[in-house]
Amino acid sequence: MCYTFSMKNYFEKYNIKISNEKIEKFEKYYQLLMEYNQKFNITAITEREEVIEKHFIDSLLNVDNVDGKTLIDIGSGGGFPAIPIRIFKDDLSLVMVDSTGKKCEFLKAVVDNLKLTNVSVICGRAEDLAKDKNYREKFDMCSARAVARLNTLCEYCMPFVKKGGKFIAYKGNAQEEIDEAQNAIKILGGKLEKVDNFSLSDATRQIITIRKENNTPAIYPRGNGKERKKPL
Ligand code: SAH
Repeated sequence: MCYTFSMKNYFEKYNIKISNEKIEKFEKYYQLLMEYNQKFNITAITEREEVIEKHFIDSLLNVDNVDGKTLIDIGSGGGFPAIPIRIFKDDLSLVMVDSTGKKCEFLKAVVDNLKLTNVSVICGRAEDLAKDKNYREKFDMCSARAVARLNTLCEYCMPFVKKGGKFIAYKGNAQEEIDEAQNAIKILGGKLEKVDNFSLSDATRQIITIRKENNTPAIYPRGNGKERKKPL
């Protein structure tokens, strides 16, 4: 099938080596995205090459940095970066969280259709789930893309990460947000480890890694919208 070949070429242009079997999963994912988008409004990006670059490849830019066994993705929406990462990493156990019912319905359809194992979808707010002892400080990694400014996002995400684990934020040009989030990072038990820079054809991308050095104090996340209205 020539369409399969062209998606593979596209990945390889970004030095992402990928098997035909995994490319088939990305093809199915693209089809489901287009199908559900007609009724649910999952993504504004629909042109094939743009979806490949801005969603699939963007989610895989730093895939070697994803090195633990358990990942929780906050505000997964259409599944980015979580689903591309999970397609890539067969032995990764994944939880995706989103507060919008329709997004969760879509995510469950993707998991079923692509036959992804060890993946669950939770429909709810990160601030509530972070208080649940089965989820708090239970993950090697937490990821998030396009959910909130970094200071707010740290309060949503850091509580899920085990001591020694990391939070990975997928951003555009983020220097200002990084400066602004210094206080939140520290209070929540983190330390800025590195910022990796990438470029897509028309976008600068920065992936921020925050290492969890200390437990997050139990009062965080504060809830009632304080993470957003009064960021740390
Ligand atoms: N990560 C995806 C979606 C970004 S849109 C991507 O990069 O394409 C942001 C998503 O986060 C939306 O689907 C919204 O429902 C969800 N969201 C926003 N705040 C949230 C919260 N506090 N808890 C859980 N989900 C949240």
